[in-house]
Amino acid sequence: MDYNYHTHTDRCGHATGDDEQYVRAAIDAGFKVIGFSDHIPFKNVIHPSERMNYDQLEDYIQSIESLKVKYKDQIDVKLGFELEYFPEYNAYYKELLDRCDYLICGQHNKVLDKYSYDQFTNDEDVLVYASQVKAAIESGLISFVAHPDYFMIGRRSWSKSCEEAVHMIAKAAQEHHVALEINLNGIRYGKSTYDGKLAYPYPFRPFWEIVSQYNVQCLYSFDAHKPYTLLEKERIELVEEILKDLNLSINHSYRI
Ligand SMILES: [Zn+2]
Ligand SMILES: [Zn+2]
Repeated sequence: MDYNYHTHTDRCGHATGDDEQYVRAAIDAGFKVIGFSDHIPFKNVIHPSERMNYDQLEDYIQSIESLKVKYKDQIDVKLGFELEYFPEYNAYYKELLDRCDYLICGQHNKVLDKYSYDQFTNDEDVLVYASQVKAAIESGLISFVAHPDYFMIGRRSWSKSCEEAVHMIAKAAQEHHVALEINLNGIRYGKSTYDGKLAYPYPFRPFWEIVSQYNVQCLYSFDAHKPYTLLEKERIELVEEILKDLNLSINHSYRI
């Protein structure tokens, strides 16, 4: 793996480190590409522990653009955003895409900034989640889906609705050539009991068993909220063990 396209900055309020420290960590890790994809700001939404304020947008863009120039001989720095997909913001997403290199969808909320999928996510929520991610894929705006199995943080069991959700997401990803991310940061939550067995919330093996039936490109992301995370390659070994013997096409030199 010679890239990481899912990197945050301290503007989101729950990450630490200077922008440049992430670039230096990525160089140290031997990456050829480091992509920043901080949580997207929305006008009129102020949530200091989840995302930058809209008035920090220009600073973010300028900072990453200047790192692109400064480090151009050592690493390819890309500028992106991680968005929650709500179709009423399509014009805004397009405006941002015109000014950056890529967008990814990390669908943390059912309702913008209100109802999060990490708490008591029932079967109905899981299907709403899948339809939102499917719409993001179909919008043509995103390059990949971050932690598509995110809803498992808010659950303690796997169900028919969960299966249906994976089919919806994987089928759309296959049709629209959008990649699915295997997230290397879900293990930070530790293990919980799912249907009587201990497991990390994501990557959640039953989810990826279904993905493996489709022709979908997968990539790894550190989803770094600290520069040092980019150097923790043992996370890959741990996740490889969880997904062992699944026929997934993981691209170790993925490029946007
Ligand atoms: Zn975050
Ligand atoms: Zn993220």
